[in-house]
Amino acid sequence: MTDTIAAISTPPGRGGIGIVRLSGPQALAIAQELVRPHHPLEHQRARLADVIDEADGERIDEAVVTYFAAPNSYTTEEMVEVAAHGSPVVLEWLLRRAIERGARLAEPGEFTQRAFLAGRLDLTQAEAVRDLIEAQTLVQARLAASQMGGALSHRVAPAKQSLIALVALLEAGIDFAEDDVSVAPQEEIARRIEELRPGLEALEASFARGRIVHDGLTLAIVGRPNAGKSSLFNRLVERDRAIVTATPGTTRDLVTERISLGGIPIELVDTAGLRGTAGPRGEALQEAEQLGIRRSHEALADAAIVLVVLDATQPLNDEERRLLESVVARPAIVAINKSDLAEEETEATRAEEPRLAGRIVLATSALTGDGIAALRERILALATGGAAAEPGMLTNLRQHTAVATAIAALGDAAKANRDNLPHEMILIDLYRSLWALDSLTGQTTPDDILNRIFATFCIGK
Ligand code: GDP
Repeated sequence: MTDTIAAISTPPGRGGIGIVRLSGPQALAIAQELVRPHHPLEHQRARLADVIDEADGERIDEAVVTYFAAPNSYTTEEMVEVAAHGSPVVLEWLLRRAIERGARLAEPGEFTQRAFLAGRLDLTQAEAVRDLIEAQTLVQARLAASQMGGALSHRVAPAKQSLIALVALLEAGIDFAEDDVSVAPQEEIARRIEELRPGLEALEASFARGRIVHDGLTLAIVGRPNAGKSSLFNRLVERDRAIVTATPGTTRDLVTERISLGGIPIELVDTAGLRGTAGPRGEALQEAEQLGIRRSHEALADAAIVLVVLDATQPLNDEERRLLESVVARPAIVAINKSDLAEEETEATRAEEPRLAGRIVLATSALTGDGIAALRERILALATGGAAAEPGMLTNLRQHTAVATAIAALGDAAKANRDNLPHEMILIDLYRSLWALDSLTGQTTPDDILNRIFATFCIGK
């Protein structure tokens, strides 16, 4: 028999309210010993209740208690949520009491895992629950919410149905093989396999945008000192300064800030100039300065997009030429900044600079704001690779691998069919494809992988 789990579901620390959650066969019985409801608990009704210390009968807190009867609860089990005032002392007291009365402390994500195991959510929906909680932009939240509603599962369902039908057809053919009737001619099998591909390939391609909406990306701002990097950084940050971030100051002494551009979280890194290890006059640089330069190089190497800032009032120097060459093969934008000061002559010479040919080049002025909107658009376009948002995108590597595996196995099946291999052999590939699609929704996902996924959830979810 399953046990009853308990956890504080609100974040640690003080808050307006704090919630202790119980799920399992004993949830109702335990809750009724923790609190004294003013009225009997009823399914999906919130009830006022007193939290009493039974040692002396004194009231510790008051709470709102909501009971969800099995199977109509999040986990499908008996569930009770006790919303007390958000004092950590009281919440911990409630949790301890629940455990003394037979509940067990919930593992991270265990409520959702129970919902999944009970078939109330599939794996993509369970992942979406976590993603919704971790969303840093509303666009991410919206994507997660649509995934939670089953958008991704719905999208693979037709392919899965057709695959099952094809498998059934071949299985039937095998059963009748002795009668020497080929139920499924070779062309028919080939056609059916080909029909499956476009939908799955489009789904696989959706990862390009889905991953970026889900994970965001880093943009490094590089250029010579005084080109206007910090000023552009501030311009980009001023309107779009993100978002609550759970991990502040991750990039040590580089200046970083997370912005939300079109709902995509973008980590801006303002690098401290990228000179070599010797100063302009050849003297060795201070240790601290060298460290800064090394970190700037690392940030540049890690960034998905590079924003090279040039000074429109200065001719290119060697360092800048090297920089432009080093980002030739990478998604990069060149901002020719201080356009407000530039004379037409310098701009004309700049236009002939071969290192800028084929690059995304635009004039900006961090001072007046000219070109900043265009810069934002360019960044967003590079970030998304032009891919449009669509319902049911793949958002993590696990999902992508499942779909890629399904497509590859279909390719093998098509080849086996072309090579006139027996249907048993084609079936092996088709089952592999089906198994991969099933693993996307969690039907065939091994326990250890499931445990690893749910371990990434917070406690109490
Ligand atoms: P960084 O060293 O590359 O980060 O450059 P800063 O952002 O600190 O800018 C260097 C100097 O150039 C500062 O005095 C800025 O006010 C000025 N500056 C930056 N961008 C512009 C611009 O677009 N136009 C003008 N006229 N001045 C700018």
